[in-house]
Amino acid sequence: MTTVPGLFAAGETAGGNPNKFVGGCGAEGRLAARGALEYLKKITMPALDSAQVGKEKERVFAPLVRGPEFDGVTDIEMEERLQRLMDEYAGGIHSFYRLNEERLVVALKNIKVLRDQVKYLYAKNLHNLMNVHEVIDRLDVAEMAVHHLMYRKETRWPGWQTRMDYPEKDPKLDCFVESTRDPKTGEVKMFTRPYEQLIPGDRTKQ
Ligand SMILES: Cc1cc2nc3c(=O)[nH]c(=O)nc-3n(C[C@H](O)[C@H](O)[C@H](O)COP(=O)(O)OP(=O)(O)OC[C@H]3O[C@@H](n4cnc5c(N)ncnc54)[C@H](O)[C@@H]3O)c2cc1C
Repeated sequence: MTTVPGLFAAGETAGGNPNKFVGGCGAEGRLAARGALEYLKKITMPALDSAQVGKEKERVFAPLVRGPEFDGVTDIEMEERLQRLMDEYAGGIHSFYRLNEERLVVALKNIKVLRDQVKYLYAKNLHNLMNVHEVIDRLDVAEMAVHHLMYRKETRWPGWQTRMDYPEKDPKLDCFVESTRDPKTGEVKMFTRPYEQLIPGDRTKQ
């Protein structure tokens, strides 16, 4: 279970690390499912807030309501812009998977520009509406990824996360870096949690 009571996560959604891979994600999926089943036995579901459901429906269907004739931005156009900016400024193949502060600042600035264009996204049908929401979700993922890459002013995992401006490991960052984002203001707060060793032994050796 995450720190949000009742919200279970596994795999990539439970926080990434460069050595997670498919097997680890599958194992976490089983653990999360077992945890969720146990949790379900102890709770009673709250009453449905129909006003909240109505508001959410409005948000979800807005790109479809704008309709196929709307002179706006398609999901593919936004997806391509996002991919290009993350590739060039947030450690993609164009920079040989290397990062620095200056580029990350540009990435954040450009993600903000794309966020301002979300109101111009439109969907042609229900399937396309799903595509639109996927790209909106990816803006969140991209923004948070950049914040986390900025926070780690060190190189902990060369090849996966190589900071050209901070090529060494910082012992103070031998911890989990976490974040919250205020949905109303968009303000991101970064914080750390200490690493907890569950299995004895030297974890730096495989
Ligand atoms: C380029 C690359 C190469 C890799 N190579 C390897 C490798 O060789 N070996 C290895 O073990 N691992 C590899 N990995 C890592 C591995 O692929 C991931 O760790 C693993 O797939 C993550 O599994 P997951 O189930 O957590 O997430 P995902 O596999 O990302 O699954 C999440 C699913 O949720 C769906 N989804 C998202 N939003 C919604 C929504 N709102 N509603 C419904 N569905 C939604 C997505 O479409 C997706 O199908 C690689 C990763 C990448 C990116």
